[in-house]
Amino acid sequence: MTQTHPHLHTARAILNRLIAFDTTSRNSNLELIDHVEAMLTAAGARCQRIVSPDGAKANLHAFIGPDIDGGVVLSGHTDVVPVDGQNWTCDPFDMIERDNRLYGRGTCDMKGFIACALAFAPAFASAFAAGSLKRPIHFALSYDEEVGCLGAPAMINSIMKQSPKPAIVFVGEPTNMKVVTAHKGLFSMRVCVQGQAGHSSLVNDGACAVTHAVPMMQYLVDAAANMKAAAPEDSPFDPPYGTLTIGRVQGGVAANILAAEASFDTLVRPAPWDDTDALETGLRDLAGRIETDMKTGAPRASITIDTRSDVPAFSREPDGAAERLARQLTGDNATHVVSYGTEAGQFQHAGLSVVVCGPGSISQAHQPDEFIEIDQMDQCCVFMERLVAHLER
Ligand SMILES: [Zn+2]
Repeated sequence: MTQTHPHLHTARAILNRLIAFDTTSRNSNLELIDHVEAMLTAAGARCQRIVSPDGAKANLHAFIGPDIDGGVVLSGHTDVVPVDGQNWTCDPFDMIERDNRLYGRGTCDMKGFIACALAFAPAFASAFAAGSLKRPIHFALSYDEEVGCLGAPAMINSIMKQSPKPAIVFVGEPTNMKVVTAHKGLFSMRVCVQGQAGHSSLVNDGACAVTHAVPMMQYLVDAAANMKAAAPEDSPFDPPYGTLTIGRVQGGVAANILAAEASFDTLVRPAPWDDTDALETGLRDLAGRIETDMKTGAPRASITIDTRSDVPAFSREPDGAAERLARQLTGDNATHVVSYGTEAGQFQHAGLSVVVCGPGSISQAHQPDEFIEIDQMDQCCVFMERLVAHLER
């Protein structure tokens, strides 16, 4: 047995408790927030909740240290994906150790990181008490990340409106403690076309919803081709360009009936250089023109476009402060990008310097028998210890 970090034991105990809260996104996370807020408060942190509109969930922002701008944020989401229909060989909400791994829903994505961060709250606090913590450490814990990064924006807003303002964010999603500097975004829309049924020979006595949906789908397919063409030579992504697909289409009854209804779903994974606002505006303009056209034969015809998720892409910052610090703390100097979305783009859009870096592998996330290697927790503890030392300088 090799030597492990002295705080690993504490981090494991905290993780064990965090796993026991079933914070599947559909549930309230308030019991977990109560628990974590009590821990942070006991360590001397100043805590603030940013509650969801219905009051059932909350983000938690806390900080320890002097009232000085330029601190570091440790960011994690508190929700986990469902275990429904998955074949677990252990209780997902009762953490167990097996083969140097810790099993349980959220061990890897991403309560393991949160547990390591919390295990060091007393260390940050005693550095502050000793007068040696030069800049504050912030904890930013969100809800509803797994259902489209819905919780974080209000918290980020609140953080940016207050003093002290942080400068650097570490989003602790599982990267095997590698420094990830970019990812694509996620943007999806549902388009519903309401036409009016009629005989297919009488095209001006009714409106065929399917026929009128096609030009909008063509617009999107053309946009996908443009996105493909827009990728720079040195794109780090695989595939190198942003993608757009139409994953679901529905509508119509028979070839000789004007379709009363049609709908389709499109999903865009934009690269950082893709403009989803322009894409959406273009689609809405086109929908407006088509709707006017449909109304000549069907006065009640309508087209609605719902944006269902909008998670911005995260782009590599030229000479980014977060990247520099993360490389210093981890010793990782390679280039890593990932294909999954995180809250990193949201923090970046608020003007903060961001990297994604956390323990565990994304290949274990969302899986039955989700686990984190204990060694990854250990490496994360080393990272936290170096971060304390860095903020003391
Ligand atoms: Zn996650």
